[in-house]
Amino acid sequence: MAQFEAVIGLEIHAELQTASKMFCACPVVDTTQAAPNSAVCPVCSGMPGVLPVVNRRAVEYALRVALALECTVAPISIFARKNYFYPDLPKGYQISQFEQPLARNGMLTIRTSSGEKRIRIRRVHLEEDAGKLTHRGQNGSSYTLIDLNRAGVPLLEIVSEPDLRSAEEVRTFAVALRDILRYLEVNSGGMEKGLIRIEPNISMRQAGEVELGTRTEIKNLNSFRALERSVAFEIERQSEMLREGKLISQETMGWDETHQVTVPQRSKEEAHDYRYFPEPDLPPLVIEPQWISKIESTLPELPLEKYDRFQAEYGLSDYDTQLLIEDWPVAEYFENVVAHQIDPKSAANWITGELFSLMNQAVIDIKHIVVSPEQLAQLLQLIRRGEINLTSAKTVLAEMFASGGNAAEIISSQGLRQISDSSQVSELVQTVLSENPEPVAAYLAGKETVQNWLFGQVMRAAKGQANPEIVQRELKHQLTKLQASDTVRDPNVS
Ligand code: ADP
Ligand code: MG
Ligand code: ZN
Repeated sequence: MAQFEAVIGLEIHAELQTASKMFCACPVVDTTQAAPNSAVCPVCSGMPGVLPVVNRRAVEYALRVALALECTVAPISIFARKNYFYPDLPKGYQISQFEQPLARNGMLTIRTSSGEKRIRIRRVHLEEDAGKLTHRGQNGSSYTLIDLNRAGVPLLEIVSEPDLRSAEEVRTFAVALRDILRYLEVNSGGMEKGLIRIEPNISMRQAGEVELGTRTEIKNLNSFRALERSVAFEIERQSEMLREGKLISQETMGWDETHQVTVPQRSKEEAHDYRYFPEPDLPPLVIEPQWISKIESTLPELPLEKYDRFQAEYGLSDYDTQLLIEDWPVAEYFENVVAHQIDPKSAANWITGELFSLMNQAVIDIKHIVVSPEQLAQLLQLIRRGEINLTSAKTVLAEMFASGGNAAEIISSQGLRQISDSSQVSELVQTVLSENPEPVAAYLAGKETVQNWLFGQVMRAAKGQANPEIVQRELKHQLTKLQASDTVRDPNVS
C-alpha cells in the first residue's frame, strides 16, 4: 500500500495594530467593542474622488515582521488594486500588493518533536482589511449589516512555501508566528478575535514524490485548535479518497465547528478573477536601506532565541520555558526576579503557579500588577531562609498582589513568621505526643504511618506556621527516644 505524505502551505492575514488605518487618519478600533461605523471617513468608506495616503507606521510594522522572518525587503514595491464587488469594501477593490510585494524569501524556524525545522516564507505584503458583514434574517426578510470600522485597517499577508507536513507542524508554526507578532508588538495575537486569520492549503502525494498534488484550502478557522483539527481532518479525507482511487478536486472548504468536518464552499471554476493592476493613486513604495538597518538593529530577541537561551542559562524544563517566554513581559519579569540571586527553578514555579493564578483571577496582565520583581524576590528569599513556610507565603503573595505591600511587613503585621526556633518546635511536639497517648502507642507497636498523622497535629497546633522540616526532624527524634525507653520497659525483651 502506497504511503501518502501531506503537503501544507499557509496563507496568513495579520492585522497591524497601528493607531490609524492604512490609507486614512481613522483610528484602528477594537471592532468587537466600538460602535459600528464610528471609525469611518470618506477614504475608507470609498467615496469617489478621495486619495489614499500610506501610513508610515504600518510600513514600519510590516518591515519588522519581514525582517524577523529573515525576508529580503524589496527596495521598491508596488501597491495594486485587487478588484472585487462585495459590500465589505465599498470602493469595489482592495488595495494590496501583487507582483512586487514588500518582501520575499524568508524563513521561520519551528521546534518540532523531531528537532528544529525551517519553513520557508514565500512573501510578505501589505494590504488593507475589509469591513465586517453580519447577515440577519427577520420576519421572512433577510438583510445584512455593514460595519466599516475594520475597512482600511492595515493588514499583513504572509504566505509560506508548502513545507509543512502534518497538522501538528501547522499548529506549531501558527503559534510560533503568533508569538513573533506579539514580541514585535504589531499584533496582540489571537485567531479568536480575527486579528490573525490563517488559511491552510493542503494536498497529498506519494511519499518521496516531488511534484505537488491537487490542493484544497480551508477558510473560516477561528482558533489554533480548529486550525489543527481541520488540517488533520482534511489530510484524512484526502488520503481516504486517494486510497479509493478517487481524484481530489481543487476547492475551497469551510470548517464546520459543530460537526468537526470540512465542507466544500466553492470550486476552482468559481474562483474570482481579480483583474489586478497597479494602484494609480499611490506612488511606488520606496524603502531606504537606512530604514531597514535601523529597524533591524532594534528588533527584540525573538521567542526561539529566548527559548534556547533560557534553557541554557537557567536549566528550566521545556514546559516552564514555554510558559515563561510566550509573552515577553513575563520573560522579562522572570529575569528581573532571578537577577536578585533567586534560584531560577523556584522563580519559574512561583511565577507560572501562584502569580499566574492571581493574574487570571484578577484578569490582569503582568505589565499591570503591583508586585515588582524585586518584591517577589524578597518573598522568595524569606522562604529560602525559612522565615516563612510555603502555605503562609501563598497568603502573603496574595496580600502583596492585592495591596502592593512588602512581604516582610505583611508577615509581621499578620503574625505569619514561621516557627523555626527548635526549642519552640520541641515544646509543640512534646505537647502533641503527651496529649495523644493512643496514637503514640500504635506507632510504638509498629504502625509507622501514625507519624504523618502526628505531624499534622503538630502543624495544626502551630497554626500552620511551623517549619515543616524542623517539625519532622523533631518528631522523629522524640519518637525514637520513646522507642528506646519503650524497648527497655518491654517485658518480652529480656
Ligand atoms: P493562491 O494565491 O492562488 O491561493 P498560492 O500559489 O499563492 O495560491 O499558494 C497559497 C498557499 O498554498 C501557499 O502557502 C502555498 O505554499 C500553498 N500551496 C500551493 N500549492 C500547494 C499544494 N499543491 N499543496 C499544498 N499547498 C500548496
Ligand atoms: Mg489562496
Ligand atoms: Zn477612514
